[in-house]
Amino acid sequence: MFNLVIFGAPGSGKGTQSDKLISRYGLTHISTGEILRENIAKGTELGKIADKYISKGHLIPDDLVTEMLADEIDAHPGTKGFIFDGFPRTIPQAEALDRILEERGESVHSVIGLEVPDDQLIERLLARGKESGRSDDNLETINKRLQIYHSSTSPLKDFYLGNGRYESIEGTGEIDHIADRIVEAINRRDEAMKKK
Ligand code: ATP
Ligand code: MG
Repeated sequence: MFNLVIFGAPGSGKGTQSDKLISRYGLTHISTGEILRENIAKGTELGKIADKYISKGHLIPDDLVTEMLADEIDAHPGTKGFIFDGFPRTIPQAEALDRILEERGESVHSVIGLEVPDDQLIERLLARGKESGRSDDNLETINKRLQIYHSSTSPLKDFYLGNGRYESIEGTGEIDHIADRIVEAINRRDEAMKKK
């Protein structure tokens, strides 16, 4: 299987770039944010819990999202691979992802990190908030999400750099150019893996 993690701050374009990668590589998209929002819309038990965290800009507890993620992986037997979008967001989640994949004889090929300055993230999220109606796309919640991103999620870069899986990508400019940079990074990783 070919498994990618698309990594970055809120509003960095993970969803947009996932769409590009799905059509290019034929992968299954797993966006934990989207699954949680579906649960909220349907009013499931998980949705009721998730709503409280999301509307405040907080992360959902690790055990809940991790269980949800494992279920989603198992719901797609025979796929060519996955794009994980919005997961992992903490070190325990990253460790859980490695464990879940290893138990299934799989691993993460590359982690693609989209780098976008905070002022641009805020601008993008405020613009999205006008149309999305998302409870978390308002200035107060955006600031909270960015704060949590910097404290809890960005340490994952070192986690993945440490085992050589992290590729940093400039996440600004045209969408198609960013997509090209991602493909180049994946190819670089392929070459590096062949040399080993
Ligand atoms: P982007 O705009 O780049 O897609 P985002 O942060 O705006 O990113 P989502 O990934 O859709 O949006 O996540 C929305 C919310 O769902 C998060 O702020 C968080 O509350 C919750 N969530 C999603 N994934 C996780 C996770 N892995 N762990 C904990 N909470 C999560
Ligand atoms: Mg998203």
